[in-house]
Amino acid sequence: MAKQYASLRNIKFMLHEMFAVSELTKYPHFSHLDKESLGMILDAAVQLADTLLKPYYEEMDRNEPQFQNGEIKVHPHVKTIIRAMGEAGFTGSGLSLEAGGQQLPETIGSAIGFWFAAANNGVTTFSALTPGAANLIASFGTQEMKDLYIAKMLSGEWQGTMALTEPHAGSSLHYITSSAEPTEHGYYKIKGQKVYISAGNHDQVENSIHLMLAKIKGAPAGTKGISLFVVPQKRIEDGKLIDNDVRSIGIYHKMGQKATPATHLATGERDDCRGWLVGEPHKGLTYMFQMMNEARIGTGIAGASIASAAYYAALEYANERTQGQPLGQKGQDPNQPQTLIINHPDVKRMLLFQKAVVEGSLGLLMQCSNYADLVHVTEGEEKEKYELLLDFLTPVAKTYPTEFGQQAVSAGVQCFGGGGYCNDFPVAQMYRDIRITTIYEGTTGIQSLALLGRNIMLKNGKAAILYFQEVGKTINEAEKYDALKPYAKILQAEMGRLQKVTQYLVGFAMKGETELFLADATLYMEMFGIIAIAWQWLAQGIVAKQALLIGNLQGEDENFYESKLHTMKFFFHYEIPKTQGLATRLLDTEVLTVALEKEIFV
Ligand SMILES: Cc1cc2nc3c(=O)[nH]c(=O)nc-3n(C[C@H](O)[C@H](O)[C@H](O)COP(=O)(O)OP(=O)(O)OC[C@H]3O[C@@H](n4cnc5c(N)ncnc54)[C@H](O)[C@@H]3O)c2cc1C
Repeated sequence: MAKQYASLRNIKFMLHEMFAVSELTKYPHFSHLDKESLGMILDAAVQLADTLLKPYYEEMDRNEPQFQNGEIKVHPHVKTIIRAMGEAGFTGSGLSLEAGGQQLPETIGSAIGFWFAAANNGVTTFSALTPGAANLIASFGTQEMKDLYIAKMLSGEWQGTMALTEPHAGSSLHYITSSAEPTEHGYYKIKGQKVYISAGNHDQVENSIHLMLAKIKGAPAGTKGISLFVVPQKRIEDGKLIDNDVRSIGIYHKMGQKATPATHLATGERDDCRGWLVGEPHKGLTYMFQMMNEARIGTGIAGASIASAAYYAALEYANERTQGQPLGQKGQDPNQPQTLIINHPDVKRMLLFQKAVVEGSLGLLMQCSNYADLVHVTEGEEKEKYELLLDFLTPVAKTYPTEFGQQAVSAGVQCFGGGGYCNDFPVAQMYRDIRITTIYEGTTGIQSLALLGRNIMLKNGKAAILYFQEVGKTINEAEKYDALKPYAKILQAEMGRLQKVTQYLVGFAMKGETELFLADATLYMEMFGIIAIAWQWLAQGIVAKQALLIGNLQGEDENFYESKLHTMKFFFHYEIPKTQGLATRLLDTEVLTVALEKEIFV
């Protein structure tokens, strides 16, 4: 693997120059922290990633989990990693102090998550799922549940999972059939099957705690009848762990992210699977959205981080590999030495595309994390504003980094030529690893329906108005700098184009023509995502410009800010033009994917 997989300078730029994370420590919610302690936490994360995660990236891919005699065996180093993450407090970084966590700002949590996943994305799923599951118990569980599970989960002794999907119910969880029968003992008897459960029932922990969706017998049909249960792999009786009838039926052999098993589970085959209701009956999906929304941002981070690792691998290679001679040179003189491939404009274009996607995506993800932090430290209308902005942007923050991250990793593979397609270099693995990110935690299709079908009209359009205002503020700020004025103008025009397309599509919704309204939701998401990243690039451009104007910079820092401005320009000149084609398509009255009367797919 390449020496570098992410940029600490860029992470610090995001944390301190873009989102002023230390300012948060002024508020009571984060007053147990200061700039120094935040710096030490980040340093510890980098150290852990360098020593425990990165060295095992390829080895874990080549030694994937095995299903043997009913047991799921994963790489033995998994235990070292999740215990180390637990002991260092990273697993509980986002949970409240009251729940036994570190109560760190989400912006720090995201930066750390990005760093870990860039080092070894295949294994970070283990430690990313556990806090989400523990936080569900902390938010909605009983005191008894909290006492029983949270400490063991955060220490890394027990694994947490999210157990939603069933063979016939993936994107549409309305159709789950796992059942829960009340008993007079306070627990429910659970029966059913769950598929693709990441990190479920593996052998490097003592116990797996499944946060599982099931329907209480007699519950209303659809999502209104779904409840949430804690279903441990082993339950505690008389102080001992005993089998809770959650059998591992097998594992799926995956394309990528092979370190983590995707498990097939059967519950209640012996009529002895006990589950404990979390919160109120029939509100399970609402509760689960807490974990799903966290996981969506987490998946966006995984997309951006894998793209980051691929970018630095490609950059290193492009600075070592020689091939051909510069374009400007007339004829190919075999007596002349070959040039480094980074000198070819096409290779530079691919590298700039990767950098623009990685750093632009990270900007949007940190922006969302910043909104999450501001929710904790504000009240009333202001708090509602940040809640709405976070909710509004979550599908975009999941989708752009994963969809464009895949294109970026593909460009990384291309930089290696034939070597990129072979196992000799890790980019082939990264290409396989990133592929899942547009599928799990809600596919791109589902995220796009959420953006256009739900979020645009969220709170009667209030969330959309707030978003337009946020972008407007960045445009106004950029207009203060001559060098940024042209880019502010482009973004202004893009927001106008987006508004026009949105109004046109919402027109179908008003007429009750839902299919026409949502048929091209994924293309709408693509357009929306590109413009959202342009917003982030303009915001980064402002900070870079300010730093350059203040001056007094050392050589490396000057390069850093100049490179920011150059990449911002690249994004506006090479990526933004794509929205024109998307808008043309979205405003086209000919929709060829709905109400097909003839058999098309012949
Ligand atoms: C490696 C891996 C790990 C996973 N980990 C977990 C886990 O830990 N816990 C868990 O519960 N699940 C997990 N999953 C399941 C994952 O969340 C689902 O695979 C995903 O939600 C898609 O569901 P599906 O596979 O049934 O596909 P389907 O829902 O059948 O979708 C197939 C295609 O149809 C499209 N589609 C479906 N419905 C619509 C619609 N209404 N409108 C437009 N398009 C639509 C989809 O976008 C997709 O392109 C995992 C899956 C994998 C592969």
